[in-house]
Amino acid sequence: MRCEVDATATVALRYAEREVLVTELIAEPDRNLLELCEEHVRTLGPPVGWRVRDDRNVVSLPEASPPSHRPDDDGVARPPVERTSTSAGTAESA
Ligand SMILES: [Zn+2]
Repeated sequence: MRCEVDATATVALRYAEREVLVTELIAEPDRNLLELCEEHVRTLGPPVGWRVRDDRNVVSLPEASPPSHRPDDDGVARPPVERTSTSAGTAESA
């Protein structure tokens, strides 16, 4: 299966499990593996009785939470806010 878009995932057909396993793109070519682009992975139609299992570590979904839409985000990376609690700090004021 060829496509003009660069492949982003490797798809393996596991006949024993009747499972279409989607993994991160594997560089080495294997004729048992398919290299698919994101669009083709999404529109993947497994055979009847099969299921698609996406085993990739999906870090960021484009539509999930756009990081640039937060009003207080000016693009500057900040360290995580230190929790200097005033109410729970009982240990040092003894
Ligand atoms: Zn494609």
